[in-house]
Amino acid sequence: MRKTIAAVAVGVSWFAWTVARVGATQWPGTNQASEAFHIDSPYPMAKKQLQRAIAGAARRLSRGDCQTIFRDFLDDSRQPLDARLDALHQSATEHLFALRFVDSRDASPCRADRHIIAFTERGSYVVYICGARFESEFVHDSVTSEVVIIHELLHSLGLGENPPTESEITHQIFARCAA
Ligand SMILES: [Zn+2]
Repeated sequence: MRKTIAAVAVGVSWFAWTVARVGATQWPGTNQASEAFHIDSPYPMAKKQLQRAIAGAARRLSRGDCQTIFRDFLDDSRQPLDARLDALHQSATEHLFALRFVDSRDASPCRADRHIIAFTERGSYVVYICGARFESEFVHDSVTSEVVIIHELLHSLGLGENPPTESEITHQIFARCAA
């Protein structure tokens, strides 16, 4: 997802960097295993902000009005994304907890385009975060940081791009989930 609206999904096979493996992260204040997120970042501030954003996205995704987003968009087999969740036997939040968020601030897409915040491949369980940018852009904007997480989650469920455009996806997430 780009800073203002758009996002990009790119192939990841040519990334040569490595990222410190920090392992599953427990959200403070809960001991429920289902609320453990997978965040790989050696940077404490970025990690903390990602934890907040993912937790906030989970809270939004638990609401019925936000869940209608999964009927708004189709995967490449023209099935709504909630059918994909059904096939995976996952709720939206369970799918979110299954994703791995990797701080990839030195990756080519982050370096090449200063508007890119996060990227993934369609259907992938790995979401790459331009960690430094994520950290600085969203210090005072938790809502947008949570929308970024939901945006990438839709791609992980099979949503492609163009159509719909990145801004169409993001605007729809705001409409359904940002109240
Ligand atoms: Zn996108």
